Amino acid sequence: MFSYSNSDLYCEQVALADVAARVGTPAYVYSSQTILANYRAYDEAFGALPHAVCYAVKANSSLAVLALLAKAGAGFDIVSGGELARVLAAGGDASRVVFSGVGKTAAELEYALDHGIHSFNCESEPEIALLDSLAARRGIKAGFSIRVNPDVDAATHPYIATGLSQNKFGIAIERARAVYDRARAFAYLSAEGVSCHIGSQILDPAPLLEAVDMLVDLARQLRTAGASIRHLDLGGGLGIAYRPGEIAPAVAAFVAGLRERLAGVDLTVMVEPGRSIVGAAGVLLTRVLYRKQNGAKEFIVVDAAMNDLIRPALYQAHHEIVPLRRNALPPVVADVVGPICESGDFLARDRPMANAMPGDFLAVCAAGAYGFVQSSNYNSRPRAPEVLVDGAAYRVIRQRETYPDLMRGETV
Ligand SMILES: *Cc1c(COP(=O)(O)O)cnc(C)c1O
Repeated sequence: MFSYSNSDLYCEQVALADVAARVGTPAYVYSSQTILANYRAYDEAFGALPHAVCYAVKANSSLAVLALLAKAGAGFDIVSGGELARVLAAGGDASRVVFSGVGKTAAELEYALDHGIHSFNCESEPEIALLDSLAARRGIKAGFSIRVNPDVDAATHPYIATGLSQNKFGIAIERARAVYDRARAFAYLSAEGVSCHIGSQILDPAPLLEAVDMLVDLARQLRTAGASIRHLDLGGGLGIAYRPGEIAPAVAAFVAGLRERLAGVDLTVMVEPGRSIVGAAGVLLTRVLYRKQNGAKEFIVVDAAMNDLIRPALYQAHHEIVPLRRNALPPVVADVVGPICESGDFLARDRPMANAMPGDFLAVCAAGAYGFVQSSNYNSRPRAPEVLVDGAAYRVIRQRETYPDLMRGETV
């Protein structure tokens, strides 16, 4: 829901140049209607099939975003105790939370047990044993799944591929059966499901569907052997279009593929989408500070940097960069760089783009996922504010950090 009207870029009915002028830059802006539409695309595509859409909190964990999704009925996939604290603070329901991650601490497991989360996606045998002992101390039964590693290639950037046997994630699918069998000896655990998550920014859903078939097979075997498996958790990973011409898989078509494979399987299906719900719903606003040339290179120096959005530096990610107000100048090919003292501090390289001049505002597109959440205070830069748009209204959902915020908790 970002589009131009005349020369101005709008988010829903709000002109982004107004937001930039009032809130300042850099600033993240999210469309609540886009977030909700993306969530509902999953929820509605499952129809009458028993299902749960557990939004992956790590993609964008701001309280107002979580509250929006909680109100719409979402469950949540968390990867830390801190994320559970956020879900609870946003009014989310602990009984709809699943806890993933390869290195959960005892304190985090205890915190989640005490709040009665739905299920733990366990990634190793020692974690399963620890969960049992912590549940025993409380006299409660903990529901768990094993996150299986199906060794399928998600065909994505190596840093966000997680379902290959060389990755640290999960338990190899051929070992999983035996681990479930051994886990039956634990009196305070109940095997509720089978889970996986093979990677992120997946543009061809074929490997996801391949993994589903493997999980269904395993669930059937486990049930035949007497386990109580009730759900399949297929993780997240559906990609979005970052580049012009890139085509994101349609959620409805993907879910239709799942339904086909799950026909006649009496299991609740869970998915953990993150990027595909919030990614395209956000932009990072920035202002051009300077123009300069070094040799043949043209630079557009902006006030947003790798501390605000690290994806270009970390994953060689492409984000479209467009002006908040179109001008009549011929386009340029430029590097868009920030103020940080690193050559890796760029938002775009050799990019054909609008000829933005000092004082002009730009939007870095599709920055709603893995944007603010990966921001830092590197170079002692206060983190950017976040703004949530709803129709013709918008509000600041996180204030810009101040210099005292930068030093909070420190002593000389
Ligand atoms: C990161 C992650 C997700 C979400 O992935 P997206 O690509 O953002 O959909 C889901 N489940 C687990 C376990 C994850 O680690």
